[in-house]
Amino acid sequence: MQNAHAIKLEICDIGRRIYSKNFAAANDGNITYRLSDNEVLCTPTMHSKGFLKPDDICLIDMKGNQIAGRKKRSSEALLHLQIYKERPDVKSVVHCHPPHATAFAIAREPIPQCVLPEVEVFLGDVPITRYETPGSQAFADTIIPVVKKTNVVILANHGTISFGETVERAYWWTEILDAYCNMLLMARSLGRINYFTEEQERALLELKGKWGFTDPRNEKEMANCDICANDIFRDSWKEVGIERRAFEAPPVMKMFSNNSSSNGASSNGAEVE
Ligand SMILES: [Zn+2]
Repeated sequence: MQNAHAIKLEICDIGRRIYSKNFAAANDGNITYRLSDNEVLCTPTMHSKGFLKPDDICLIDMKGNQIAGRKKRSSEALLHLQIYKERPDVKSVVHCHPPHATAFAIAREPIPQCVLPEVEVFLGDVPITRYETPGSQAFADTIIPVVKKTNVVILANHGTISFGETVERAYWWTEILDAYCNMLLMARSLGRINYFTEEQERALLELKGKWGFTDPRNEKEMANCDICANDIFRDSWKEVGIERRAFEAPPVMKMFSNNSSSNGASSNGAEVE
């Protein structure tokens, strides 16, 4: 049996961190933790995440009904619950509005890949989901097409949501993503960004596998993908309105193994530009 109080303290701690990093202005952001099959700890609405006390955290069921707690649950709980339904391995979800990643959400600019080693190993391709009014089930449903292939999602014109097996792990991906987006914006202001070669990127993907992190680019189904061209979530770009406008496409890489050269399904970055 898990110690609910200890988890509430951890939620308060991560709340302080997202608030102090400017990831959640005023009362923005929400954090949840799945205690059991039908019990989820949830931060309250209209409450700064920087000043939470364990008593402020409420308990809800998997339908979003409040079971316990003196404060009303977050209005964005349905999005969290949808992630728990799709991903049995996930125990905690963190949603906030980190400014640099949210800039990409507003511009609907795909996150360039093959630029920084840590990002390749920890994040991989980051999807941007289509815009829906927050709080609704339609909003919660936007993550369904991507949630099994990533631990962090950018929500168009809104913010980010990330998830993992602990509260801290769920938060990690957001912090890594926002730091990366910040660096990309600074590098872009200096000029162009430089991409890894295929060999350099393959070495990082190999390392990622060795360290026990999954990446669709290491799976058989993506064996012929262009590893730096955002192939994992590219199918969704048109519907969401995503297009490369600020960053150049990565150089075209040769298709990996069994390349039948006529593989029309895996487009490369240059074709899109
Ligand atoms: Zn939000």
